[in-house]
Amino acid sequence: MKKMIQLVAIIMALLVPQSINARTGVNYGPSASAFSVETNGDAQQVRLRIYNDGLGGKPVKTINMKRDPSSKTLWQASVKGDLKGKFYTFDVKYNGKFRGECPGIWATAVGVNGKRGAIVDLDKTDPQGWNTDKRPEIAAKDLIIYEMHHRDFSIDESSGMEHKGKFLALTEPRAIEHLKALGVNAVHILPSFDYASVDETRLDEPQYNWGYDPVNYNVPEGGYSTDPYRPEARIREFKQMVQALHRAGIKVILDVVYNHTWNIDGSNFQRTRPDYFYRKNADGSYSNGSGCGNETASEREGMRNFMIESVKYWVSEYHIDGFRFDLMGVHDIETMNAIRQALPDDIFIYGEGWSAGSCAYSGELAMKANISKMPGIAAFSDEMRDALRGPWDSNSKAAFLGGMKGNEESIKFGIVGAIQHPGVDYGKVNYSKAPYATEPTQMIAYVSCHDDMCLVDRLKASVKGITTDELIRLDLLAQTVVMTSQGVPFMLSGEEMLRDKKGVHNSFESPDSINHLDWGNLECYPQVMDYYKGLIAMRKAHPAFHMGSAEMVRRNLDFLPTENCLVAYHINGRNVPGETWGDIYVAFNAHKRARTITVPAGTYTVVCRNIKCDQQGLTTVTTRDGKVTIPAQSALIIHN
Ligand code: CA
Repeated sequence: MKKMIQLVAIIMALLVPQSINARTGVNYGPSASAFSVETNGDAQQVRLRIYNDGLGGKPVKTINMKRDPSSKTLWQASVKGDLKGKFYTFDVKYNGKFRGECPGIWATAVGVNGKRGAIVDLDKTDPQGWNTDKRPEIAAKDLIIYEMHHRDFSIDESSGMEHKGKFLALTEPRAIEHLKALGVNAVHILPSFDYASVDETRLDEPQYNWGYDPVNYNVPEGGYSTDPYRPEARIREFKQMVQALHRAGIKVILDVVYNHTWNIDGSNFQRTRPDYFYRKNADGSYSNGSGCGNETASEREGMRNFMIESVKYWVSEYHIDGFRFDLMGVHDIETMNAIRQALPDDIFIYGEGWSAGSCAYSGELAMKANISKMPGIAAFSDEMRDALRGPWDSNSKAAFLGGMKGNEESIKFGIVGAIQHPGVDYGKVNYSKAPYATEPTQMIAYVSCHDDMCLVDRLKASVKGITTDELIRLDLLAQTVVMTSQGVPFMLSGEEMLRDKKGVHNSFESPDSINHLDWGNLECYPQVMDYYKGLIAMRKAHPAFHMGSAEMVRRNLDFLPTENCLVAYHINGRNVPGETWGDIYVAFNAHKRARTITVPAGTYTVVCRNIKCDQQGLTTVTTRDGKVTIPAQSALIIHN
């Protein structure tokens, strides 16, 4: 009897798959496939259709699914035979009307344009050596994040890459060598799940979109694969990309957009469980906290669970190292904390701590101001970004980089990583009038990202009569502030080659001519890449710049007297474990002329001066009166 029970338990374990598969549209088996879909309680009928193709053609089978007797909302069907290579859709009837075919919300493979679920054997999609692939071990405080779009990165002829605009570009030596030379250790890839705005049946035509229009959350985007008609291709190629980056010691962070869907009526959410997944206003209209026409309801059990299972799936199936939550401020705090709890500690989580409109939710949202209630989750600092380049609501207004005084405290706020620090006057900070981070690793330091103008365009638009020399000086000054911040530094891809987007502020669907990286710039402006490399290498080699603990930052970092357009600070490296430098002085001068700071008299090694940066030392400086000069529009870093 006991043996019998064990046998039944084993069979049950085999039949009841784990995690996402428990809810997935299809659970494939070589002799039969089990389908399931969850609906609202008032669903009247669910049709399952099986197809030979991902698009077009008539169904080869239509099955009426059965409501699970123990549940009012789960519908199931088992289909005999080997269905590998087939496609499927669900169609749910409410109020006498079918809502329309869709792959359901749990599809892990789809046909072209994501209209139908695909039946694949996921194990067969693993590239060779995948079972030994491991997430690189890099602590949050040591991360240097590079935000990139697949098409921007490789589409131009000058990239020299074979797989232009594809996942596979990131497996090519040219790509890997560039990232390694630059020194970044995490790539943050813009939406790479299946999105709507690129027609995968017309990939021979140039099409561009950032991809913030989700369709199938748990499937890679077909437009970035070599063949969107073959469901395995995008899955395998995505894994190959992760594997190549991991082999180079680079983490892969996924930009996730659970806050809204491409549309409402056509979404997998709405077609299976109408109005369950979206927030509504009191008048019955859909709330639009995303600015994209709808907003999801993360506080509902089904939506929260979907988000948790989805990120867990990306970690387990694709070995993803981190997540950047688009408009994280649309989600509730409990959900973000539940996601943090559900993922391994080394998975880095950060997001935009704001929304794009008011949300129909009365509880606490995952806004920047609430970051202290979300341990282990970081938020972008618009304080530091805007203090450097100028405010988000104007492209032409300058700030620190443009020689405008009054931004110093906001920059200091970013230097310490948005924590409580006695040297920062929070009343003078541009946005947050109090520190929001408990630990410095809860702040993302950056000056540009895919949104808004890139750094070059912004400098051109906001600094009147800027020369190329000034542009380079200010670009390097800005990134020095970012890369020496105690927060987690983040850069937009292509800044290291002085990219521009021809002044386009919101390039989400601009052509390649606007968005592409011009790799020829590496030869035109070699001093820029050299400086970025030197700067990043310095950060990595010196724990003083990424102490990782608020207490250590408070104890070991102190500010020199602030002047207009001049911010300077000192780190006592002797107190920082692993640090080989003693007193470190860092100064940022946004003036058009040289300025001085006063340090204790003595001899110092200069590692960053006048747009050169080399942690081995550029020269030494001896000062008897303690005065040290910082050339115009540049950073100075010295140590003893
Ligand atoms: Ca797509």
